[in-house]
Amino acid sequence: MSDLTRLTAAELSAGLTAGEFTSVDATQAHLDRIAAVDGDVHAYLHVNAAALAEAEAVDARRAAGEQLPELAGVPVAIKDVLCTIGMPSTAGSKMLEGWVPPYDATVVERMKAAGLIALGKTNMDEFAMGSSTEHSAFGPTRNPWNLERIPGGSGGGSAAAVAAFEAPFALGSDTGGSIRQPAAVTGSVGVKPTYGGVSRYGAIALASSLDQVGPVSRTVLDSALLHDVIGGHDPKDSTSLKDAWPSFAEAARAGKRDGSLKGLRVGVVKQIAGGEGFQAGVTQRFGESLELLADAGAEIVEVSAPNFEYAVAAYYLILPAEASSNLAKFDSVRFGLRVTPEGGGTVEQVMAATREAGLGDEVKRRIILGTYALSAGYYDAYYGSAQKVRTLIQQDFSNAFEQADVLVSPAAPTTAFKLGEKLDDPLAMYLNDITTIPANLAGVPGIGLPMGLAPEDGLPVGIQFMAPAREDARLYTVGAALEQLLEERWGGPLLSQAPDLAASSMLAVSDGAI
Ligand code: GLN
Repeated sequence: MSDLTRLTAAELSAGLTAGEFTSVDATQAHLDRIAAVDGDVHAYLHVNAAALAEAEAVDARRAAGEQLPELAGVPVAIKDVLCTIGMPSTAGSKMLEGWVPPYDATVVERMKAAGLIALGKTNMDEFAMGSSTEHSAFGPTRNPWNLERIPGGSGGGSAAAVAAFEAPFALGSDTGGSIRQPAAVTGSVGVKPTYGGVSRYGAIALASSLDQVGPVSRTVLDSALLHDVIGGHDPKDSTSLKDAWPSFAEAARAGKRDGSLKGLRVGVVKQIAGGEGFQAGVTQRFGESLELLADAGAEIVEVSAPNFEYAVAAYYLILPAEASSNLAKFDSVRFGLRVTPEGGGTVEQVMAATREAGLGDEVKRRIILGTYALSAGYYDAYYGSAQKVRTLIQQDFSNAFEQADVLVSPAAPTTAFKLGEKLDDPLAMYLNDITTIPANLAGVPGIGLPMGLAPEDGLPVGIQFMAPAREDARLYTVGAALEQLLEERWGGPLLSQAPDLAASSMLAVSDGAI
């Protein structure tokens, strides 16, 4: 049997349906891969001990002739921000170490109903704050392309798991880029759906007006398949849209089939298309991708979104403000950790000692910032102003979408930086999300997919498309069409060019490097 970890979720689904292998085979192959490489990559915080039993149950149902959903028996990884019955859900924080939720997030419930097999929970920056996964309380994840580099963040674990063939696809969450930026720097595909398109119920909240759950995968079609499973109205989430959504998988298949982008107006957003802070290799590959799009019949237009310049600044007021409120519940009474000062203490002292011990530096920084921005006397100057900028950014999007059907930019300004490089420079870290944050502020959907390797360091770079709210299907069609054109040029998927991790870790040992 060929290596099942190399198959996409769509291929695994086809093989399972055709009886070429079982879900136990597919699940075991991924568990073996995790055992072989995750010591180096550290994509997982927890591996699901029940995965094989769950796979066996799906196999038994299939053997009994039951008509199963398309993805039944396919394994998936889950970002640790999502609540899962029977598996710890820590959000990368000591505060929740060992906490096992009494309920499943809606997306997890839907995933289980579709017969998907959870492989485990993936590493992340603490409470999803970060762009490198270095803020995880449980140690960083490493980029499968180069173990000295970050895998992006906050969802570096999910992206690295997918890029290292430790899962065919995964669930992530994107508040300011945490699905799309990790996808960009690991050569994977990631989608932030329209705000309200996927339930947030059971996703440990960072900033509720920005958070969206979405898929990470190696192909556009696989993201679409997972989005079809997790998306749609959920009465348990008051911001959930009631729309009937089209099949995203069908949209992706249409893009692949047609390959033509005739008449599609692609708007290059001047403010996030390059220039200061953008690596030369990113700009170069972006230019080449635009040429490919034009060759396929797309009309490339330049659009201006003048207020995007202030997006990062507005985001880093709105996010900490909402986070300071959301994280107030971690108070030693309701969840997880409780630290009692020596000799006892008042309730307030216990809360303070618990938060001091349980929260990391970046989380504390943002709680302080957010509390300050919301305090009487400063509310209008900071939080109020940021909300006004948010409205201006939304207007920029509306104007831009009058001139273009989709907007395009690099998915991240640089390739994966070195572990430790930006850890002491929060502003530099924040600026890595310059291309992804606007979509969250406006609630519009965005997809990131690989557009090649940067010539200067041989690391993956990603391209991002954004569409008007509710037009997620358009992103899958355009994304799949471009993916097809790029793969023709590369002679296969970009990730097949990634170094063989199992071999390289053996090499490192024989070198005496580790
Ligand atoms: N890197 C961004 C931040 O630190 C995005 C986080 C996210 O999307 N969860 O806030």
